Amino acid sequence: MEERFVGALIGTFVGDALGMPVEGWSWSRIARELGEVREMLPARLGRGTYTDDTLLMIALAESLLANDGRVVPEDLVQRFRQVYDPRRGFGAGMHRLIRLWEQGVPWEQAARQLFDGGSYGNGAAMRVAPVGVLYHRDVRALYDAAVLQARVTHAHPLGQQGAALQALAVAQALRADVNTFSPDEFLEDLEASLPASAETYRRALMQAGDLLDRWEDRALIVRRLGNRSAAHRSVPTAIYAFLTHWHSFEEALVYAVSLGGDTDTLAAMTGAISGALHGVQAVPSRWWDALERGPRGRDEVVTLGKRIYELWRTRGFGNRQENASTSL
Ligand SMILES: [Mg+2]
Repeated sequence: MEERFVGALIGTFVGDALGMPVEGWSWSRIARELGEVREMLPARLGRGTYTDDTLLMIALAESLLANDGRVVPEDLVQRFRQVYDPRRGFGAGMHRLIRLWEQGVPWEQAARQLFDGGSYGNGAAMRVAPVGVLYHRDVRALYDAAVLQARVTHAHPLGQQGAALQALAVAQALRADVNTFSPDEFLEDLEASLPASAETYRRALMQAGDLLDRWEDRALIVRRLGNRSAAHRSVPTAIYAFLTHWHSFEEALVYAVSLGGDTDTLAAMTGAISGALHGVQAVPSRWWDALERGPRGRDEVVTLGKRIYELWRTRGFGNRQENASTSL
């Protein structure tokens, strides 16, 4: 179980680092120029370096640990400000939020000022793995925690629901038995966990289910499910990449990157889910060896995963197993 907690966090990091060098490329350009991305490629800050996805996940994990597992928006704001590093590929919305927070604008108000109605980007989903693992036994508490951590930066319901769906997928993968795994059942259970208000995501998951055997037609998958930074056009895609390659952490991430677009975040989200199913030992050693070390690097992420596992184990966090399959 500890390996699967660590796997979800490291999976985010690995996907982020694998996808980042081709971020913004189309699926066809990746196919034409590289064939596929199966190795950590040279990048601006070096091979195996991470971006905002991993940094914000680290901040969220540290905040949960400092607050006994609770999501505390004011604390998250402070930690997001601390890890902010313009060299790490933060989105335009985050640059803007950092300035608003510096000016003393309260977090709820600041989040609403972005993009006319709030951001519905995938930024709250890409970082959510620590919530998914910590609350994996209590779907209702998980949903509330995932939405609250999202609200700090994403005022639009689609941004919040996308984060909750990604957290649900991580939790469900963590609870799943790899020996009896069924993609169809996984999708059914995931749909059943969504509240009625998340209709956009329920439709996207149904669409994903209809396309399970069409994954090689990347043009079709990108058109139907999306590969961009909008949460509803990338969280279902990341879940799809996991489900069509559920048997292998490596294949799931290679496939997620092959779809192009927001490749670092797509692969980070796929990596979190696949890592929760297979555990950290499923990370290929050549990828593991390439991961950035030092401050907020690989070993620190492993330690965070272990500490969140300890928090869950010792405090029985949301440990109400009878609720695990309760529909909201
Ligand atoms: Mg990124």
